[in-house]
Amino acid sequence: MNFPLAQLKTDPSSAAATQLWANLKNPYFIGDTPGLTETLGWVDAWATQPSVYAVAARNAQDIAAAVNFARENDLRLVVKGGGHSYQGTSNAPDSLLIWTRHMHDIQMHDAFVPQGCEHTVQPQPAVTVGAGTFGMQAYTAVTTEGGKYVQGGGCLTVGLAGLLQGGGFGSFSKHYGTAAASLLEAEVVTADGKIRIANACTSPDLFWALKGGGGGTFGVISKVTLKLHDLPEFFGNAGFKVKAASDDAYRRLIREFVSFYREHLFNDHWGEQAHVNPENSLEINMVCQGLDTAQAKEVWQPFLDWVARSPHDYSLDGRLVIGTIPARHWWDPQWWKEHWPEIAFPNPNGNPLTGLLDYSLVHLMHQPVFDFDNRPDAAPNHAWWKGNTFECGWFIHAYQSLWLPESLLGDDASQERLADALYEASRHSGFEMHFNKGLAGAPPDAIAAARDTCTNPAVLTAFTLVIAGDAEAGPVYPGIPGHAPSVDAGREGAKRVDQCMSKLRAVAPEPGAYVSESNYFEKGFQQAYWGSNYPRLAEIKKKYDPEGLFFVHHGVGSEQWSPDGFERL
Ligand SMILES: Cc1cc2nc3c(=O)[nH]c(=O)nc-3n(C[C@H](O)[C@H](O)[C@H](O)COP(=O)(O)OP(=O)(O)OC[C@H]3O[C@@H](n4cnc5c(N)ncnc54)[C@H](O)[C@@H]3O)c2cc1C
Repeated sequence: MNFPLAQLKTDPSSAAATQLWANLKNPYFIGDTPGLTETLGWVDAWATQPSVYAVAARNAQDIAAAVNFARENDLRLVVKGGGHSYQGTSNAPDSLLIWTRHMHDIQMHDAFVPQGCEHTVQPQPAVTVGAGTFGMQAYTAVTTEGGKYVQGGGCLTVGLAGLLQGGGFGSFSKHYGTAAASLLEAEVVTADGKIRIANACTSPDLFWALKGGGGGTFGVISKVTLKLHDLPEFFGNAGFKVKAASDDAYRRLIREFVSFYREHLFNDHWGEQAHVNPENSLEINMVCQGLDTAQAKEVWQPFLDWVARSPHDYSLDGRLVIGTIPARHWWDPQWWKEHWPEIAFPNPNGNPLTGLLDYSLVHLMHQPVFDFDNRPDAAPNHAWWKGNTFECGWFIHAYQSLWLPESLLGDDASQERLADALYEASRHSGFEMHFNKGLAGAPPDAIAAARDTCTNPAVLTAFTLVIAGDAEAGPVYPGIPGHAPSVDAGREGAKRVDQCMSKLRAVAPEPGAYVSESNYFEKGFQQAYWGSNYPRLAEIKKKYDPEGLFFVHHGVGSEQWSPDGFERL
């Protein structure tokens, strides 16, 4: 199999190398290239490597043939969908790759009933997507064209099959729940080469394991059917950055934000992120659903008033934008293109701290909000949020996550403890609080559905997932002159992230981490990723894959294998 990066080593000044260099910042190019992955590696952990051969599967029969061939010939097998694994679980040297990129048929149903559930499950709106379908393909068909909602990822190029097998959160998961919880049925090829249907009535144990038990572990999914939801009228965004003039002012800002969050944002309207930065700034990049612009602004006014009351302590760094757009156009790049002039050049009148700007349209983190696949044959909807560009071709130094329980938002003393821990953690490294990735505050049906998945139950009572990371902007890859990862800087970064997260772990009594966004070196990964669900998952793994054909780093059952997955211990 061709390894595109080899050219950057052997012929770095060729025109082809220059073109490749640019393409490594395009997630669609990366996804279309079987020998590449979105993350190029992780210091002291892994660096992307091509398989020896790849099967570009078109259907379940192709997958079954590849699975049988790998099993009969005792081959190391890997599976790649969107290629967005941070832990490098969709590539391995000396392996056979099953690549699902071309399997992206999408079919909407008004009244779907899983096979074998005819008398037990009510028909409901659903969508069936091929295993290679990524977020933007699903959002275009389901939301822009279909006027409905499906739970995909925040990042538009993440594969749906990989996403939901990790649990899977999107920007609006605080309302709709996890992607795993919306799975109604999967077609999956198990290690024996059988094409099986897994749903609540047929192979319910396998079905449960696929809902968060980790990708590349229980079989190869060929297609999935996911529940559809109604859209609200608006989706929106609140984005601004407050800078504190001193350490003490910053500590008070964090404390105020904690109680403001508890009172005004701790509900299913608000998701996405607050960034707690080490240079004493708090950056809000949150999204909302089910509120119009006036309502969204009203929510934030008390916090902005609080900030405005202390002009010596706080200032706004950059623009403040709070606004909403019709939900149906959230993932519609053509619509955004038509409205960019209005969004990109607003006319801020007066002090934004004393009166919120009157935008009727949302500005996300950057302007314009999307980057586009600029290859000549690219589909017009092939866009991605600018905020994700940094991750294309990057090399990770550290990446860790931790669910924080809602009990930390309880009384005054708990909030104080939380605020202190957040401040202390920020002394070592910046971190992000992803409120949409903890389900406390979600509607009861979203929580109940997630309880019926194998994601660590910590997600049910967490109000946020904290993520701290450190990385080198790409493209970076070992052995490329001038672009090799700096190992010393990487280790220093990893140390800072460790120190940061240990301050937060100290206030989380039963720390859990999100399998898809977590530390390659996670200690006790079984407990961290799956908590009390692990023993049942390990049994299901034994039942469907007794010989361990499917192996991924820190996957269920991986403790029985050498780190490269070649030898049973
Ligand atoms: C830029 C970026 C943004 C992200 N944003 C989010 C986010 O908003 N929310 C969130 O929850 N997560 C997010 N993630 C994490 C992401 O959900 C996981 O990495 C997910 O597993 C990626 O799936 P994939 O198919 O794109 O990746 P891949 O690397 O192709 O696959 C991931 C894992 O799933 C396995 N797999 C893939 N397809 C199949 C299949 N058909 N059958 C069996 N196993 C399969 C692979 O073997 C691998 O182990 C993000 C990751 C990146 C890099």
